[in-house]
Amino acid sequence: MKTSIATVSISGNLREKLDAIAKVGFDGIEIFEQDFIADTGTPREIGNMIRDHGLEITLFQPFRDFEGLTGDARTRAFDRAKYKFDTMVELGTDLILVCSSTRPDSLGGIDRAADDFNELGQIAAERNLRVGYEALAWGRHVNDHRDAWEIVRRADHPNIGLILDSFHTLARKIDPNTIRRIPSDKIFFVQLADAPLIDMDFLYWSRHFRNMPGEGDLAVTEFMQAVAATGYDGPISLEIFNDQFRGGHPEGLARDGYRSLVALMDDVKRAEPDIKIEVPSIPERVTVEGVEFIEFATSGEEATALAQLLKSMGFAHAGDHISKNVALWKQGDIHVVLNQETNGFAHSAYVTQGTTICDVGLNVGNAAATSHRATALGAATFDQPVGPGEMDIPAIRSVGGSVMHFIDDQSGLSDVWSVEFTKSTDKPVTGAGLRRIDHVAETMNYDEMLSWSLFYTSIFDMHRTPMVDVIDPDGLVRSQAIKTRDGGARITLNGAETHRTLAGSFLAESFGGAVQHVAFATDDIFATARHMAAHGFEPLPMTGNYYNDLQARFGLETDQLGQMKDLSILYDEDADGAFYQFYSRPFGGGLFFEIVQRIGDYDGYGAPNAPFRIAAQKRLMRPKGMPRR
Ligand code: MG
Ligand code: MG
Repeated sequence: MKTSIATVSISGNLREKLDAIAKVGFDGIEIFEQDFIADTGTPREIGNMIRDHGLEITLFQPFRDFEGLTGDARTRAFDRAKYKFDTMVELGTDLILVCSSTRPDSLGGIDRAADDFNELGQIAAERNLRVGYEALAWGRHVNDHRDAWEIVRRADHPNIGLILDSFHTLARKIDPNTIRRIPSDKIFFVQLADAPLIDMDFLYWSRHFRNMPGEGDLAVTEFMQAVAATGYDGPISLEIFNDQFRGGHPEGLARDGYRSLVALMDDVKRAEPDIKIEVPSIPERVTVEGVEFIEFATSGEEATALAQLLKSMGFAHAGDHISKNVALWKQGDIHVVLNQETNGFAHSAYVTQGTTICDVGLNVGNAAATSHRATALGAATFDQPVGPGEMDIPAIRSVGGSVMHFIDDQSGLSDVWSVEFTKSTDKPVTGAGLRRIDHVAETMNYDEMLSWSLFYTSIFDMHRTPMVDVIDPDGLVRSQAIKTRDGGARITLNGAETHRTLAGSFLAESFGGAVQHVAFATDDIFATARHMAAHGFEPLPMTGNYYNDLQARFGLETDQLGQMKDLSILYDEDADGAFYQFYSRPFGGGLFFEIVQRIGDYDGYGAPNAPFRIAAQKRLMRPKGMPRR
């Protein structure tokens, strides 16, 4: 598989782009004219610089508004083409993209265009160049790859071929399986892009909202299956125009691109095992059974306060690490680790961020395979010296830089609690009735959300749910859940657009994305809340107005509503079921815990309650001495 990416997909200047693209492992680039016009080097110098990075120029683009012209306009179009051809020879690339004309004065006509391309093919052949024709979704006469293919077929010249772009085909809802009838030797190049389903003008949609395969809603895998089925084994190239990416980090974007391509081609290979394209063999998407543990980096008074909070929530101090200043707290199937080491990763996380969740352990089907797939998709492994008596548990760095460990039953890694921890209590801890981790909520900049969701959905057998807007009194937060099919593992991503929101201010303190809250599931939220209250837990207080509104919206029983008010329990319901939740007060710079109970098949996270929860948290977190509004 020859991987390629258009320089336009990455932020930065040309040199920064090349560094990033080469570093993450791409074989080549599509060069955009603007990129070298803006560079000080000559085309020949730029070509050499690209090759010095170990990259090939797979395509030169774009050449617009060529076909269907007459008279002087036609002559000028051919002159422009010759000029571009000369530049290509200097750069050292042999393939140019001609996209279908959008000119109002172009005449259309399949045979007229075919004649134009036959003539262009002869000029290209003199220079050993090839020309690929692409149907733009908004082309004036040609906006469908089937028509572009007919023009290429009738042009009947070996130096003229077709360029396919998943966006243009899928945006117009053209059946990608029509590609299966095109001979592979006439497909000169394939460009891939995904996009969220938005009903808007094709041109605007394409120029601003394209994203990496797997980040959007288009059937890019089906498209690529059809391409692969033809026998095509040329470059597969990402061509992504996206506003969110323009301010992004070049290497992070390049890594996401590479990750999306490898994951996509793995999916294609599994669906079409006989394809000609060589695809690296990697373990399939990993089953996640649940969240095995969360680990706090903490210290001193903050550690004491956190332990006290856990105690009030029904957790028991279940043991200490055999050689480290690390305590295990347990309840139900939940493991919470408090790490107070003064060296190593947790310590550096504490030094830069204060009390923080530095590590999340996932319970997976196969820990070694998880690590293998993650690293094949460009994730960095995490290694820390393993002390005597400790287990070597596979781990990687997550998107925000925190650590993610993988635990499974088959390799004995789930014995870590008895192997590495002394047992001060061996008995099951029922405590306040918390059973398991329902979800882990991570906060990041809105612009980085796609990167986080791609990370989870490409490595694990997890799926995105639709994005919802959460209204913070000081701005918007977008929230999206990533979950396994059975809901055994759920991660919510919260993208903050401004630091004035609660999520945003947490982000400003945590240097990049991090876990902001963890939700524990109970089977009886009223009993749990009472148990906790009796042990000194102080819930996040909700307003009387909130309960009056609940009554009006859902017509709850007065007695039940009274109990909810006493215990600060929030409520939501939908067609599938109902949801109860309450929160801890914020601690450690904006972290908090949540307790939830799901009734029936309720699959959400109480989003309608989020504005009231946020307002309550902000009231508590307002710096002392600030006037109350
Ligand atoms: Mg294209
Ligand atoms: Mg939540």
